[in-house]
Amino acid sequence: MNVEPPLRVRAEIDLAALRANVRALRARAPRSAFMAVVKADGYGHGMVPCAKAAIQAGATWVGTATPQEALALRAAGIGLDDARVLCWLWTPGGPWRAAIEADVDVTVSGMWALREVVAAAKSAGRRARVQLKIDTGLGRNGGQPADWPELVEHCLKAEAEGLLKVTGIWSHFACADEPGHPSIAPQISVFEQALSYADEAGLAPEVRHLANSPATLTLPDTHYDLVRPGIAMYGVSPSPEIGTPADFGLRPVMTLAASLALVKRVPGGHGVSYGHHYVTPRDTTLGLVPVGYGDGLPRHASGKGPVLVDGKVRTAAGRIAMDQFVVDLDGDEPAAGAEAVLFGPGERGEPTAEDWAQAADTIAYEIVTRIGSRVPRVYVNE
Ligand SMILES: *Cc1c(COP(=O)(O)O)cnc(C)c1O
Repeated sequence: MNVEPPLRVRAEIDLAALRANVRALRARAPRSAFMAVVKADGYGHGMVPCAKAAIQAGATWVGTATPQEALALRAAGIGLDDARVLCWLWTPGGPWRAAIEADVDVTVSGMWALREVVAAAKSAGRRARVQLKIDTGLGRNGGQPADWPELVEHCLKAEAEGLLKVTGIWSHFACADEPGHPSIAPQISVFEQALSYADEAGLAPEVRHLANSPATLTLPDTHYDLVRPGIAMYGVSPSPEIGTPADFGLRPVMTLAASLALVKRVPGGHGVSYGHHYVTPRDTTLGLVPVGYGDGLPRHASGKGPVLVDGKVRTAAGRIAMDQFVVDLDGDEPAAGAEAVLFGPGERGEPTAEDWAQAADTIAYEIVTRIGSRVPRVYVNE
């Protein structure tokens, strides 16, 4: 039953594609558990439906950046018997206790966090599940190797007091999307040293993990006990340099499509959109695409962003505004309401998120993740 009026714009999320992507990725890491990374609202695809679909396809862990995201998953019923939930981006103040009480695995990257989690475990009267993160060279979050002995020592002490259990040790790559990058081997070796140190000191984590999407796809030696793909699960390649989604048997999950708001004839020499950065070269037809940067389209793609209308790929003519942009239809006259596909799997000749990334000089991660809350997500193949 579909009594909804046609939508101005919609992001169609193909959950069958997501499940197939999870299976394809699991086949590349057959001896490792699969953590579905669903931070930032599932890279714009919707956190809860994507987490559920990933679990149906065999994910046994779900990963988020913030504790608030992890708690939202738990509130949606995810992570009780079906999967474990790990989050990693904490700031002083927590919410450590809420996470411990919700059985979320928390990540500790420094002594301040270890002190807070131990205090929260004491007040909750419950053992915290802690994963230790080592900075093996990314230079972002994670404890420095020089601080590793102190972290390990304090974890052992808190384990002996029954306040926590170290469930994992992990790290993150800087340049796994650049095949052969000289930082990759040293990061693996620092990780190995941190694992050996922790092992000899007496920690026995359930899972050791390092691989994001590019490492899951191209660096099998880094799969360890668990892989943590994000972007590849959504069917987008981490970088055109390592290949297209199809090269890895992946299919883009999101299709962004709109209904043309207006089609009209204009004379040559007509300025188009703010600043008149496009002027019609001759008599032509213009189509109004009712999507703009208020929906998360990058304004940087003004004059470049591609869109499939009436069987041909057209280009944003002039500025992308907050709510709309214009395409030169070159004399074609589809009716108002005709479909404009901004990006999708590419199988019908439509552009891909990667094409928009190139038009805006960014990465496809940003294109899908920034599609905003004004765009309804329509789930298909649930
Ligand atoms: C985002 C993220 C991932 C997933 O990265 P992709 O490149 O999208 O696969 C994995 N681990 C951590 C720590 C992350 O922040």
